[in-house]
Amino acid sequence: MEAMSIADFVKQVVMGKISVVQHTEQVLSEIDSTNPKFNHFNLIASELALQQAKEVEAEIKTGRHKGKLLGVPISVKDCICVKGVESRAGSKILSGYRPTFNATVIERVRAEGAIIVGKTLQDEFGFGTFCTNTGVDFPTPLNPLDKSRSCGGSSGGSAGFTALTEFTHAGIAESTGGSIACPAAFCGVVGFTPTYGRVSRYGLMDYANSLDKIGTMGKTVADASLLLEVISGHDSSDSTSLPEPVPNLGEGEGDARFKVGIVKELFEKSDESVRKECEKAVAQMEKLGASVKELSLPLNSEYGVAAYYLLSMSEASTNLAKFCGMRYGLHGKLEGSFNEYFSKVRSEGFGKEAKRRILLGTFARMSGFRDAYYLRAAKARTKLINEFKEVFKEVDVLVNPTMPVVAPKFSEIKKLSPMQHYAMDLCTVPANLAGLPHLSLTAGTAKKMPVGLMLTADHLQEQNLSSAALSLEGALK
Ligand code: GLN
Repeated sequence: MEAMSIADFVKQVVMGKISVVQHTEQVLSEIDSTNPKFNHFNLIASELALQQAKEVEAEIKTGRHKGKLLGVPISVKDCICVKGVESRAGSKILSGYRPTFNATVIERVRAEGAIIVGKTLQDEFGFGTFCTNTGVDFPTPLNPLDKSRSCGGSSGGSAGFTALTEFTHAGIAESTGGSIACPAAFCGVVGFTPTYGRVSRYGLMDYANSLDKIGTMGKTVADASLLLEVISGHDSSDSTSLPEPVPNLGEGEGDARFKVGIVKELFEKSDESVRKECEKAVAQMEKLGASVKELSLPLNSEYGVAAYYLLSMSEASTNLAKFCGMRYGLHGKLEGSFNEYFSKVRSEGFGKEAKRRILLGTFARMSGFRDAYYLRAAKARTKLINEFKEVFKEVDVLVNPTMPVVAPKFSEIKKLSPMQHYAMDLCTVPANLAGLPHLSLTAGTAKKMPVGLMLTADHLQEQNLSSAALSLEGALK
C-alpha cells in the first residue's frame, strides 16, 4: 500500500472523508505493534496524540478547514523538546526530563493541526552514523528493509519509521554533520536539511551549536518539503535564526533545468555499486534538462571529516558539561564532594561514545593545544566554505552519493574502528560544515538496498533543491 501524500491526506480530512481520531488510533496501533520489532521510537505519545486528535477533530466539526498538516501524524527526534513528554536526546543522563515548553518547531506544526505521535530513537545526543551509539539501556533501531542492517544515524528511528509506516506521516529530525541525509539514504526515504538558521533551534538539545539544524524526513520530496516550509522562518527566541522570508516549498513544481555540478572526489571515494546508481540518476537529470558538469572540491573532500570532528567534539564537550545530575534528568544520591557526585552520575549516564567525545573535545580546546586543533579547524572551516562559494558561482546544485556505501550490516559496523566510523561521513559533512541546504533522495538500489543521492544548493536556495528533487523523483519512479 502506498501512503497518501500529506497534501492529499489533508484534503480528505477537510472533506470529512478521513477521521483524524480514527487515523491517529490506527497509526498508534501500528507503532505499538512494530516498535518491539524495530525500535524506531523511544517513547510513544499515545495519550497526547489522541487528545490532540480529538481537539483537531472537534475544531474541524465546528468549521476549521485550515492547516497545512491538519491531522497529520508527525514523529519527533528525541533531542527536540515536547512539552510534558520525556525528552532524552537518546541519553540515560536525561532520564525523566520532561520539558516545560515546546520547541518552536513543535509550536509551528501544532499551529497547522499536526498530531505528535512520539519521540524517535537516535544515537546519543546525535553522536553517530549508524544509530549503534545509542545511550545506556537504549536499543538499536533496525532497518525495515533488512533487519540485519543499520537505519543510519543519528536520526535512525525517524528514517526507519518513515520508511516502515503505511500511513501518511513525516518526521522532524536533526542534523549536525549528516544525521538526516544518512539515515534517509539508508532507509530509502527523503531527508531535507535546511540552511543553518532557516529553522529555529529553540528547544533543540544542542550537540554542536554552530552546526545543528532541524530538518525533515518524508516518504516523498513533496512531504519533506511541505513540513520544512511549516517549520522554517524567523524566531526571536533563537539568536542565530535568519530573518529571510520562507519560500513556498510545499506546492513547488518539479523542474530540473539547473546547472548541476558532479563532485568528482565524492563519486570516486564511493563504492562502485553506489556510484553507478548515482551516475544513472544524474544522467536522468540531464534528460530532464539539467546541464551537468564535473567539478572538484579538493579541500572539502580531504579535510572535511577532520575539521568537522574537531569542531563538533569541541562544542559537544562544552554542551554536555551542564548534565551534572543536578539540574536535568538523572539524579543520584547526594554524597561525597561535588566532583565525586558529578563523576558518578556522568559515568553512569553517558554512553561510551559520548565519553570519548567529551575527552577528545576537551583536549582539542585545552590551552596549549587549542591553537593546533580547535582554532586550526575553525580556520579550515572558513576555507572549506569559500571553496563551496566559488563553485556556486558556476553551478546551482551539487550532487554526490549521500553515503559511500549502502546501509551496512551490524556485523560489519562492529568491525569499524572509531576513525573508520567517522570517515563514513565524508560525503555529508562538507555541506553541514558550510551550513548549506541539502536533500537526499533515493537514486536506485544496490545489494537490494536503497542508494541515496545528495543534492546541495547555496545558502537559502532550498527551493531549487526541492524543484530539482521533485523532478528527478518523478522520473525515477
Ligand atoms: N555522524 C556524525 C557525527 O557522529 C553526524 C551526526 C549528526 O549529524 N548528528 O557527529
